[in-house]
Amino acid sequence: MDFTFVSGNPALDLAGTVGSRRDGPVDLLAVPSDLERWVAECPGLPGSVAVDAAAFEGALSLREAIYQLALDRMNGRRLDSGSLDIVNQAAARPPLVVALGDAGIRVSGDLAAVLSHLARSGIAMLGDPQACLKECGRAGCTRVYLDRSRGARRTWCGMDECGNRVKAAAYRARMRAATNTR
Ligand SMILES: [Zn+2]
Repeated sequence: MDFTFVSGNPALDLAGTVGSRRDGPVDLLAVPSDLERWVAECPGLPGSVAVDAAAFEGALSLREAIYQLALDRMNGRRLDSGSLDIVNQAAARPPLVVALGDAGIRVSGDLAAVLSHLARSGIAMLGDPQACLKECGRAGCTRVYLDRSRGARRTWCGMDECGNRVKAAAYRARMRAATNTR
């Protein structure tokens, strides 16, 4: 299963590693090595980090806390205090180290620094009153994304992931309807 990074924020991309959360959740992070692979693929994170069992559990609880806060934010509710504690504690750890060289930006740090970075990214977004968080418009896709489009008119988490699938299904339905009325 491939990871996708379409949410517009790495904290939301982490939350998006659980798909179809309402009807039959699919968790792409089943074991620590899945998280190691996710970190390696996520833009802006170190190429490799070691994840042990305890750190893995911590990362999953940060993921669920971020998702809960995103839901609270979208629904205009008070932010869940337990989730706030988890995210704020992760963000209080030392962040990733970035260095500039001829080859570009080099990012380094361990998993705690990665989680700190993700928590800080989530905080910057969730604390921004202008940030427009939405759930994907495809039925069954529960991915939350940051809509930065002009007029906030984005409907899907990603065109490849959901937009084109919905459009193709609508096209097939129209063709079927046209055939049936002939
Ligand atoms: Zn989607």
